[in-house]
Amino acid sequence: MDDLDPERHSQLYRLDALPEGFLDCPVNRLDTLLKGPTLIRLRGERQPPLFVSVLLHGNEVTGLLAIQRLLTDFRERAVALPRDLWLFVGNIEAARYGVRRLPGQPDYNRIWAGGTHPECRMAAELLGELERQPPFAALDVHNNSGRNPIYGCINQLDARYLRLARQFSSILVYFTEPNQVLSVALSRLCPAATLECGLSGAPEGISRVARLIDALLTEGELPGTFPETDLELLHTVARVTVSDADQIAFGRQVERYDLCLPNDLDTLNFQPLPADTLIGWRSPNARGLSVADNAGRDVTAHYIRYDGDRILTRRPCVMSMLTRDITVIYQDCLCYIMEPYSL
Ligand SMILES: [Zn+2]
Repeated sequence: MDDLDPERHSQLYRLDALPEGFLDCPVNRLDTLLKGPTLIRLRGERQPPLFVSVLLHGNEVTGLLAIQRLLTDFRERAVALPRDLWLFVGNIEAARYGVRRLPGQPDYNRIWAGGTHPECRMAAELLGELERQPPFAALDVHNNSGRNPIYGCINQLDARYLRLARQFSSILVYFTEPNQVLSVALSRLCPAATLECGLSGAPEGISRVARLIDALLTEGELPGTFPETDLELLHTVARVTVSDADQIAFGRQVERYDLCLPNDLDTLNFQPLPADTLIGWRSPNARGLSVADNAGRDVTAHYIRYDGDRILTRRPCVMSMLTRDITVIYQDCLCYIMEPYSL
């Protein structure tokens, strides 16, 4: 497949206008308009630019749909953008196939802290460009494959960052790991947030992203005061992964699979879970779950206990990103563990 030619992904493509047809292009056809990961710089009336990143994960389409809706609206009203908008379109090859990433590709949201993949050169080039002209604010738009509320993530506990994310949702997650994500790199340059928009393409997420981008394009500056108190702030403290060697299934069938997960697992996301909450079953030969804290230390025994074939939480906790997508569980993780964070 020539589209997996690493040279195509080791460079950043640049455009100073939307390509013809971009605003109605289906997400799986973007590769007919763009050559690879592309920074599209649109002029507005004011600088510096608002930076928005979409499709770092090819199966997460909300960011693109929100941009298409908003820019179509500006075009139909024949009004200029109030501020420069820099749009980064990430993994269009994965988007063509509707997957998070293709086999052989790195995760496009793990390439922003250096590394050996050709895509890390592209990432460094984009960050260099943004360093030369730091944005007004930056948003990276994502979806979850499991049921989660719509929430925002920040990587710095600065009032402007909290305000930015609070404009999107009253549920905020503060995290520092994984540190190779785009928003961590952006946070060094300007107020930045990751927008987690629920299931890919769901209408509420599209509307909220479009509204936030519209507001940020119009606003003169970000307020520096702390957000109001109606805010639920959580801190990611650990990540739960599975072994590639464990065969996973949904429903209790430990005679045939190593690791079995409840069918309604993703309904546990963002719920306060008491100790002894059932989160799965394992066969006698399974590796089971691994839990690592932000420093990478194995803290499995702190959070998880086994009772016969049952996998239980050992202490009260809150989980996010629990998913029923087995590919995502292997490629990324089963979930994150969070704790309430008080400002
Ligand atoms: Zn994502």
